[in-house]
Amino acid sequence: MEKKNLDWANMGFGYRKTDKRFVSTFKDNKWDEGALIEDDMITMSECACVLQYAQTCFEGLKAYTTADGRIVCFRPDLNAQRMFDTCARLEMPQYPVDKFVEAVVKTVKANEAYVPPYGSGATLYIRPYMFGINPVIGVKPADEYQFRIFTTPVGPYFKGGAKPITIRVSDFDRAAPRGTGNVKAGLNYAMSLHAIVSAHREGFDENLYLDPATRTKVEETGGANFLFISKDNKVVTPKSDSILPSITRRSLMYVAENYLGLEVEQREVYLDELTDFAECCLCGTAAVLSPVGKIVDHGREICFPSGMEKMGTITQKLYDTLTGIQMGTIEAPKGWICEIK
Ligand SMILES: *Cc1c(COP(=O)(O)O)cnc(C)c1O
Repeated sequence: MEKKNLDWANMGFGYRKTDKRFVSTFKDNKWDEGALIEDDMITMSECACVLQYAQTCFEGLKAYTTADGRIVCFRPDLNAQRMFDTCARLEMPQYPVDKFVEAVVKTVKANEAYVPPYGSGATLYIRPYMFGINPVIGVKPADEYQFRIFTTPVGPYFKGGAKPITIRVSDFDRAAPRGTGNVKAGLNYAMSLHAIVSAHREGFDENLYLDPATRTKVEETGGANFLFISKDNKVVTPKSDSILPSITRRSLMYVAENYLGLEVEQREVYLDELTDFAECCLCGTAAVLSPVGKIVDHGREICFPSGMEKMGTITQKLYDTLTGIQMGTIEAPKGWICEIK
């Protein structure tokens, strides 16, 4: 298979059409077999449920080339399970977990020419998604759905290394108590757009969202979970029912405990205690891990001792170990790496 002639190292994080995408249709109460198709356009009714009532959800994962030249993706079964859970919450038909993983493998295989080479920093981003497609005007779930997967090659998330970022405490909330914050619904992102655009306008990289009920506890950012490192090297992550269960975060907590021998803790984290931590980072599929140097709470600056120049020591160890596992230079826990062949 010949690779596409793309400038892998200088690609941005944007959409670029690839050759094939997977489509399966839910109709008459069942999913069809699904197929790989070439057409990247979707035609639907002006009254499609997704357009009127935002009945849509998604997942995100990556395929990449390991040090020894295999094409793999990372824990796709967890993305499958999370979409399964999301669909239950949004009254959408669940796509079977094993079929989801099969479809991911097939779609990556069909776009193998777009999987960036090892060492380029680029990856093939995989976007599974589902939406209600038949006309719905009285508010109710759709009867017909499409489950789709497309892929797009994306450049390194951080060009020239990950510099610590600055985050502000947002005045907006991301999710309601007992709302949809813990599922990957498109609507969670629609309502975060205003907050992120205004944060950028004011010179911040991201928003820290507080728990909406008491606004005293740390939840997450618009698309990444938090990890904090205490001064005695404990890895702490916030616990809340409205945080999206990040696969990267769950993997990093496992790595911290089982590879680095660190103590880990998932508990409520109060805004008031952030000054006690030594390091802070965000985690998610896109960047794996981004160090946070500073959190600004309405003019009050919380500066982490790790500073604004580089990742903290523990953060760096977590990053190196997880990316080593992903790239095949460190042995992975059983079932974490899914080879595309
Ligand atoms: C997708 C997502 C994350 C990151 O999850 P990963 O599985 O690690 O990619 C974190 N927060 C939110 C709100 C998300 O939608």
